[in-house]
Amino acid sequence: MKVKNSIRIDKSASINLNVRGLPQSPTLEINERCKELEREGHKIYRLGLGQSPFPVPSAVVNALKLYAREKDYLPVKGLRELRGAVAEFHREKDHVDAQPENVMVGPGSKELMFLLQLVFYGDIIIPTPCWVSYVPQARILGRKVHLIHTQFEEKWRLSPVRLRDFFESENDDGKPRILLLNYPGNPEGATYSRQDLESIAEVARRYELIILSDEIYGQLDFQGKHVSMASVYPERTIISSGLSKWCGAGGWRLGTFTFPAQLSWLMDAMASVASETYTSVSAPIQYAAVRAFKGGLSIERYLVHARRILSKLGKWCARELSTSGIRVHSPSGAFYLFLDFSVLADRLAERGIQDGPTLCTRLLDEAGVAILPGSAFERPENELTARLSYVNFDGAKALAASESIPLDENLPNDFINHWCHDSVEAIQKLMAWLYQDH
Ligand code: GLU
Repeated sequence: MKVKNSIRIDKSASINLNVRGLPQSPTLEINERCKELEREGHKIYRLGLGQSPFPVPSAVVNALKLYAREKDYLPVKGLRELRGAVAEFHREKDHVDAQPENVMVGPGSKELMFLLQLVFYGDIIIPTPCWVSYVPQARILGRKVHLIHTQFEEKWRLSPVRLRDFFESENDDGKPRILLLNYPGNPEGATYSRQDLESIAEVARRYELIILSDEIYGQLDFQGKHVSMASVYPERTIISSGLSKWCGAGGWRLGTFTFPAQLSWLMDAMASVASETYTSVSAPIQYAAVRAFKGGLSIERYLVHARRILSKLGKWCARELSTSGIRVHSPSGAFYLFLDFSVLADRLAERGIQDGPTLCTRLLDEAGVAILPGSAFERPENELTARLSYVNFDGAKALAASESIPLDENLPNDFINHWCHDSVEAIQKLMAWLYQDH
């Protein structure tokens, strides 16, 4: 038999230009790297990935067991009952006029964000520091991104003045644009008050801006007082939420978008793409999610305990770290602190550390503490900033311990040391590394 000359495929030539050279998402990459180092026998403090430490509430796990046999493909936009439960959830918690027909369920809010950017023909505005995947998603799709850099003094939040300045400098009122707003924020743990949101909405209205309000940590506002952007700017706000954070079910991959009626054309376009790609979210997960979104007393109690543990720990970490010269704000929600090491620049430079990526690499190599550089959150490469995710403790044990302390009492001071010991030790390691002789 005559053997044909083999055809050599140059794989790099067949990769889309926007994807060529794209690394794995930093949050997932750091997690893999930590596991690898642990396999090699190193003690690693995992402050890289932002994953809920708490178990999925029992009522929701039981629902998943109950529906394990559900095997049919479900509607592309999601199970009718689930879309209803999500709408009801936002009506009750966020006081917005959410309707079931305007809810879309997807395999994680991350995928829904990607679909939105795919179907929406316009620019994307993102205040920084911002979550790691917004900008890579826009770049994969070839969307134009406008970054609005914020500062430590502003608590890393977007001010209406900065937003207005952006539009005035653009000098182009009519262009379609989406603003990605995320609060309580990843990576900085800050939030917006109703008044802040109203001022942003005023500018947004003037420029007919669509806002994708990433409120995935909304239920993890430490005071339980999250205000939805959709309650102050209902006409053009899409609320992004899901099970990953407040329900501790990141790996279940279920996210939700809730649209205003006038943007349902965007949802329909996203659903068309979804129908040609992932079809629908896993059936048992959707049935279980109905239970989660319907909530009730046991889930509310779970949330109250989760918030008080996260609040106690987050605030302790911020206080402790600021004693070592790191500039950091006390968090208002979520799992993160955004650290600014610039005051320590001279000390770090003596050790050959002049930027965030080097700082994080050296911290991991020399002290086993994994955090992510500010550049992963779209801050300048040479900035000495980093995100620390303080949730690497055993959430089941901490939750059980908190449940034994009445809710009208504060958690005792030794609670953190006792039940969140891994996080405490990691902070101590980081601080000792900062001041060690070289
Ligand atoms: N949201 C989490 C984080 O920022 C991780 C989830 C993900 O990146 O998919 O660490």
